[in-house]
Amino acid sequence: MKYIIAIDQGTTSSRAVLFDEQANLLAFEQQEFPQIFPQSAWVEHDPLQIWDSQYAVLERLIHKNQILPADILGIGITNQRETTVVWEKSTSKPIYNAIVWQDKRTSHFCEILKERNLAEYIQNTTGLLIDTYFSATKLHWILENVPQARQQAENGELAFGTIDSWLIWKMTGAKSHLTDDTNASRTMLFDIHNRVWDKKLLDELQIPESLLPKVQTSASFYGNFVFQGVFIPILGVAGDQQAALFGQTCFEAGMAKNTYGTGCFMLMNTGNKPFLSKYGLLTTLACTLKNQVQYALEGSIFVGGAVIQWLRDELKFIQTAADSEKLAWQASPDHGIFVVPAFAGLGTPYWDMYARGAIFGLTRASSRADIARATLESLAFQSKDVLNVMQQDSGISLKSLQVDGGACANNFLMQFQADILNVKVERPQFVETTAIGVAYLAGIQLGIWDKDFLLSKRKIDHIFVPNMSENRRIFLYEYWQEAVKRSMGWLKPNKITT
Ligand code: ADP
Repeated sequence: MKYIIAIDQGTTSSRAVLFDEQANLLAFEQQEFPQIFPQSAWVEHDPLQIWDSQYAVLERLIHKNQILPADILGIGITNQRETTVVWEKSTSKPIYNAIVWQDKRTSHFCEILKERNLAEYIQNTTGLLIDTYFSATKLHWILENVPQARQQAENGELAFGTIDSWLIWKMTGAKSHLTDDTNASRTMLFDIHNRVWDKKLLDELQIPESLLPKVQTSASFYGNFVFQGVFIPILGVAGDQQAALFGQTCFEAGMAKNTYGTGCFMLMNTGNKPFLSKYGLLTTLACTLKNQVQYALEGSIFVGGAVIQWLRDELKFIQTAADSEKLAWQASPDHGIFVVPAFAGLGTPYWDMYARGAIFGLTRASSRADIARATLESLAFQSKDVLNVMQQDSGISLKSLQVDGGACANNFLMQFQADILNVKVERPQFVETTAIGVAYLAGIQLGIWDKDFLLSKRKIDHIFVPNMSENRRIFLYEYWQEAVKRSMGWLKPNKITT
């Protein structure tokens, strides 16, 4: 038997997933690694701990399943996006910890970029909005703050990479300094139209081009991983959310997936056209193949499954996240309650950092079950908000929504999502969609799988079919929008409170 392995390097853990030649998922291994919080709002990872944990799970997967390295046809890599590593080319030693996507230390520099009137140029060129989230300002920070870094960079001694590049560098024994289109498009330095590093932005941020990896299509040859003397080719690379879109077989324009994790990530394939958003969505490259470049619109919801954790940990309404489903089925369908989980303000499409969470519509008869149900419903309403603007920006209307992430296990939530969107919601049997996505890329590059084959392999666990009257749908959504409006501008930053 022959195999393909996907490496899935996430924010809190490293995973390795084994597939057979027929694209069946056989086994996986996972290992957490430490998070480093040097100051408030700073988040770092040790790149060597990332590498060690990733190597360990890969080795364990191969040994536990008694795989001969020679039987591994290829490897795919998917990764936490935007996280920034700089290392010395001659020693492969990182010059600083990886600065993680959540890290906010560069917010002041982001304000400076806005004052320099770069917002429009950056959106038009990179598809992104100026934010600490992306790699560019993190890389700038390292060059400015690590002793000797700028000098070493000017001398061409350093390499920058997102986590994919770092892993490729380590796996190929410092031979390949490469990244793929999807990861490059999250740096805020990449021209997504011409698929090249943007000279003006490199100048503006004082980043020498010699630091940057070469950018390849997502399905292509990235070098060989030498494992126990055997050469295993790396054949597919993609950032986690784009990998999930591909793993969900959203190959055509108008197909979308929503990941219900701590936050929610929605991506819609918009085909070969990049649509720039009027509502604060991001435009990004989807996985690229040899003869095919596709784009996606991306929207995120800050508080997704996290609001279920709040029900569990703060309100103590439930013991496990899964209990929320049982409770929701016990609620009155006409509970009349709307929970707006604006714990940290509101993102797409409202963009109000002064909004705060609120519960509307309480009566003496309101029960824990009613509030739990309304809390779950808030995930679906927020997803509808994002999808609405995606459809407006692209002019494309959605036919069905593919779902994954921890909270997609909740049948109540998925049915309500289908009802409130009035589209079918499809939950796959295997929700490891990020790993599946890059295994698919590797298989396509090997020439053993094509899109038709992968579509035929798609295993659906359940299709949730909309079952709500149009009147009720409109009625509920109008109430939701009213609730959101009333939670906005709650904080009055200039008001004296003492
Ligand atoms: P992440 O990758 O962001 O860590 P996961 O995809 O593992 O997140 O999903 C975890 C989130 O999903 C948690 O916020 C949890 O509250 C929520 N969750 C998990 N299972 C359920 C469930 N059955 N119903 C509702 N929410 C759930």
